[in-house]
Amino acid sequence: MSTTTIAKDTSSFELVSGLEIHVQLNTQSKIFCSDSAAFGAGPNEHISTVSLGLPGALPKLNKEVIEKAMRIGLALNCEINQYNFFDRKNYFYADLPKGYQITQDNSPICKNGYLNVRLSDGIEKRIGINRIHLEEDAGKSMHDQDANYSFVDLNRAGVPLIEIVTEPDIRSSEEAAALLTEIRQLVRFLNVSDGNMEEGSLRCDANISIREKGTTAYGTRCEVKNVNSIRNVRRAMDFEFGRQVEVITGGGKIIQSTLNFDADKGTTSPMRSKEEANDYRYFPDPDLPPVVISDEWLATVKSAMPTLPKELAQNLITELGISLSEAAVLADDKDLYQYYTEAVTQVNHKKSLVNWLLGNIRAILNEKQIEISKYAVSPGQLAQTINLVDEKKVSQQIAIQTLLPALETNQNVKAEELAKQLNLLIVEDVDAIDGFIDEVLAKYQPQVEAYKKGKKGVLGLFVGDVMKLAKGKADAKKINELILKRLEV
Ligand code: ADP
Ligand code: MG
Repeated sequence: MSTTTIAKDTSSFELVSGLEIHVQLNTQSKIFCSDSAAFGAGPNEHISTVSLGLPGALPKLNKEVIEKAMRIGLALNCEINQYNFFDRKNYFYADLPKGYQITQDNSPICKNGYLNVRLSDGIEKRIGINRIHLEEDAGKSMHDQDANYSFVDLNRAGVPLIEIVTEPDIRSSEEAAALLTEIRQLVRFLNVSDGNMEEGSLRCDANISIREKGTTAYGTRCEVKNVNSIRNVRRAMDFEFGRQVEVITGGGKIIQSTLNFDADKGTTSPMRSKEEANDYRYFPDPDLPPVVISDEWLATVKSAMPTLPKELAQNLITELGISLSEAAVLADDKDLYQYYTEAVTQVNHKKSLVNWLLGNIRAILNEKQIEISKYAVSPGQLAQTINLVDEKKVSQQIAIQTLLPALETNQNVKAEELAKQLNLLIVEDVDAIDGFIDEVLAKYQPQVEAYKKGKKGVLGLFVGDVMKLAKGKADAKKINELILKRLEV
């Protein structure tokens, strides 16, 4: 399909955006009953009287939901509201059998936070978090399964959500993408959600307005609903920015509205106004008592917070002098960082370990198409292998091509032991190497003459051949030295 682009001079305008991010919490059971909250079951397999909204069914709060919301709130530098209650948001839809959604209107569990996101030019941008509130998800209506009927699947009804609402601090689609990327990483790191956008565990509404550069008043906003990937959030924002500039420069006015994003066309379009009806008549839910978070409970959750990836990265930079991008790769991947912390206790040079993990090991994992958590060489074995290479007991090439693959199937063997067994240790015997050098120099008489006349490039040929005779088990630098010594005479 073709993509519509609007070529307009947008340079005198600035984008203003705030996001509403729905995150599905990864609890075992739903927010107000014990039905499974798992994704992927057959239609209506995870339901009960509460999910069905039958008269008289009473909701009962899942404590885990409060803890997870506190964790993400603390990570986003929020104040935690210790006196919470739930509200009913009334509307009618087939996938909402009660006729209302239980949510938080006036007492969100978290407020007044912020997140500093890193942009591609290295600059950090602070984006305010207005609030985070708790709510239940609705079921799913399916209109495309049958010619005559719509189907309803209530498995998702009552699955716990948090909604993270940012301040209108976002000024570009890059900032929005960086924020979403970081929030997705944080919810995964904190084990709050799987953060999977394709399965709908992370959904985003983007509020977008424009204003002339240099002005401070906010313009009228449009809200693009339920964009399902970070890339599409960027596309929707860029398109909407262009569209609004065109309307304004054409003398028109932006009308506050709710929009859909068409991912095929790359365009936004108004939703049917029926879907926009906005009189929810919120009121406190009388079935649910207020939730008081005691000082003790808050303190326990606070003290159980892990060091966050950004801080881990900063520690790595300070300790090892590695670059921000290197540190971020390690710290942003929970499993990789865990592997690193286990290996680092056994490795002689920490910097070597970082280089291996970001270089050779990453290449090995890419080739196998696996994550580090599935790599059969243990952190200890990798550390031992790196030590062997650093001590010049095993060549790097042999380590990668032979020793590490052998360790994969010998998980309880020390790297040095296996290297010995497989006869991989570097030949330290200078006499043996000297013998190989004799052989090679004799074979390449004309090249030796050429070398002596100044054609230094042939040295590599000699080294390579000696290495071959040594079956790779020699130190290339050492061979180099010995050959040079021989050619000088
Ligand atoms: P409502 O409750 O009516 O949805 P909120 O004040 O809660 O309104 O804002 C919803 C989202 O819209 C927030 O993320 C906020 O940052 C964003 N927003 C508010 N005003 C603007 C604006 N003029 N331009 C862009 N985004 C805005
Ligand atoms: Mg809103």
